[in-house]
Amino acid sequence: MPSKDPSFGRMMRRAAVVHCPWCGARRTFIRRWLGKYERCRTCGIRWRREEGFELSAVAINTTLTFLALAIGMTIGFVMTSPDIPVASMVLSLIGVAVFMPIVIYPLTYTMWLAFDLAVHRPEAAELAEAAAAVDAQAVARSTSR
Ligand SMILES: [Zn+2]
Repeated sequence: MPSKDPSFGRMMRRAAVVHCPWCGARRTFIRRWLGKYERCRTCGIRWRREEGFELSAVAINTTLTFLALAIGMTIGFVMTSPDIPVASMVLSLIGVAVFMPIVIYPLTYTMWLAFDLAVHRPEAAELAEAAAAVDAQAVARSTSR
């Protein structure tokens, strides 16, 4: 069951391992790697708490990818200077630019949700609605068997 009012640090630690920031469950809103359920399958909290939520997750993704590219380029320059292997460095950085956003995709959503939940704590009505949604899912599952 969801713990009451987790701290910002606790929510960020949960988000860093792609768990639900609010309840800490592994069974969260992430569906396969690149998809999402409407809400956490354990506590029922919606990941899209406001319009444009995705934009902030994309911003985190872009920032982390650019940071990785900058670090990779700096290490590449420092370690190979003055004979910089431009072609192999460009190819490896293209690999980082293509695959890193995919690898960190769910992490950016859980991290942004953790930040959003810390800044904008859910009210009792939102938590009640989340609990009701989880109960409705449980009833639907039990009647479909
Ligand atoms: Zn949850």
